[in-house]
Amino acid sequence: MLSLRSLALVLVPAAPLTTQQSISVYISADMEGVAAISATDDPLGRRLMTAEVNAAIAGAFDAGATRVVVNDAHGGHNNLIQTDLDPRVTFLRGDLKPYGMMQGLDSTFTAVLFVGYHGKARSRGGFLAHTGSGRTADLRVNGTSIGEGGMNALYAAWYGVPVVFISGDSLAVSQLEALVPDVGSAVVKTGIWNRAVRSLTPDSARAAIRRGVTAALGRAPSVQPVAAPPFRVELSYTDALYADIAEGIPSVDRVDATTVGFTVDEYPAAYRMIRVLYKHLTQ
Ligand SMILES: [Zn+2]
Repeated sequence: MLSLRSLALVLVPAAPLTTQQSISVYISADMEGVAAISATDDPLGRRLMTAEVNAAIAGAFDAGATRVVVNDAHGGHNNLIQTDLDPRVTFLRGDLKPYGMMQGLDSTFTAVLFVGYHGKARSRGGFLAHTGSGRTADLRVNGTSIGEGGMNALYAAWYGVPVVFISGDSLAVSQLEALVPDVGSAVVKTGIWNRAVRSLTPDSARAAIRRGVTAALGRAPSVQPVAAPPFRVELSYTDALYADIAEGIPSVDRVDATTVGFTVDEYPAAYRMIRVLYKHLTQ
């Protein structure tokens, strides 16, 4: 499945991350994979999401983190309740930013954590599964179908930063494990079809996340993907109309009725264009 060179798996150095002098942790926080959420427009959902992010932050500082940055990465990227966030962090807010769910990550970070993640578009049994927006049927990088977790893990790989932990529904975790096999994880719920879940309670989920983050940062990072150019990206829409529109961008070619593609050498450029195609172009 991962035979292509650009998504090849490699071993990273075997020293625990916490042996480093400064430990900078980047958290990308989504919402559909937060425990006990039944709909993302529920005001309670913002509180549940904020509390799970705080659990991850606490776990990072328990492990010795010296800097934690949180990126609100769901919907309009304005979900976290600022006044309730752990005061030890800085955070990013607002979704009109070029690198979206990974804005602000660079090679100065030690590790990446994903919180509240969900399965990719058209996944069976993934609660509110989607990729970037409801208009995406599938996203492939060099022939491998990936969801938001995979797309973001490749962004981290481009900067040489390991993804060491993910929390979310069972599908989010298993799909990321296809790229990062031994990633630390907390499965906080399991989808029943795509609109119902069996979930841990919020308190149990937060405890599992805090413990899981501390454990993940305390061991050597697992095998990580390599983001090596060139990157051939193909995005299939749920409706040919969006492919009709996207084809007007000079660097974009038409693959079939609902699919467009492009090729670039720098993954951040690929990431930025993916967001144009699945988010801005379809709004
Ligand atoms: Zn998402």
